[in-house]
Amino acid sequence: PMHNLYRGRFAPSPTGPLHFGSLVSALASYLDAKKHHGKWIIRIEDVDGTRCRTSFSKQITDTLNSYHLFSDETVRVQSQHTEMYEQLLSVLRKQQTIFPCNCTRQSLAQHKGNHPFVCESSLDQPHSWRLKTSLTTYQCQDSIQGTLHFTDDLKNNCPVLKRKDGYFSYQLAVVIDDHQQNITHLVRGADLIDTTAQQLHLYHLFGWTPPSICHIPLITNHSGDKISKQNHAKPIQNNNLPTLLRALHYLKIDLVSPLSIAEALSLAIKAWDPNKLKEMKHLPLEEQDLHF
Ligand code: GLU
Repeated sequence: PMHNLYRGRFAPSPTGPLHFGSLVSALASYLDAKKHHGKWIIRIEDVDGTRCRTSFSKQITDTLNSYHLFSDETVRVQSQHTEMYEQLLSVLRKQQTIFPCNCTRQSLAQHKGNHPFVCESSLDQPHSWRLKTSLTTYQCQDSIQGTLHFTDDLKNNCPVLKRKDGYFSYQLAVVIDDHQQNITHLVRGADLIDTTAQQLHLYHLFGWTPPSICHIPLITNHSGDKISKQNHAKPIQNNNLPTLLRALHYLKIDLVSPLSIAEALSLAIKAWDPNKLKEMKHLPLEEQDLHF
């Protein structure tokens, strides 16, 4: 049956342990997949070798598993697929849709961090590979956020696909993996809305069909910032029913005293309704959750 074709994923970057906000994102992608009788796959996005640690990958998967969030297929680890990223980068090179660049942060500062579109790098000096500017505009029917229109992003910033130090970027790897793993639905945090245009552009260049994409609202702290590893959100406890119930609360699921994590999850699958999050970009962290 058609509904078995749903393939979703949760794709954490192992730059720290799982925090409350990422548990909420993981749950949203899991519940949406399971509501559709689909598969849910964990992928470790560790292309940035300067910031990612194997110990965090293990810690993140252990935490997810302690909440009964198990990957339906072998956990994919991006750093093991760099040859494939290289191959697909060379496809773009042949298309001349990317260019070598040796700009530095300082040299870009005078252009407000945007790439000036003129770059004199030759291939024999250390260079990154950037995606060429595109005047194409993209739209995305986000089932939570509504129609997203992207116009300026792509014109302005020529995202790096491979860094000067040799590491591939999130942008390139995420598109290649979602395609190669036949991911049909992305359910992820609203902080990634801005990256969507660049990803749609890459799908277009490779001639691939993008998955359906939706963005759940971010949990924000008292100053309106996303709770994240960067602003010191604490690691969450493993295997803790009250934590799970609080996370589900932000997804508009309030369960009456389930007995176990397993029971809570199966009730949550029935109760999951992304329409309840419609057009919200932020959810303020509630008083009782300030310790998260
Ligand atoms: N690895 C990305 C992150 O941790 C998420 C990728 C995605 O869901 O597209 O922010």
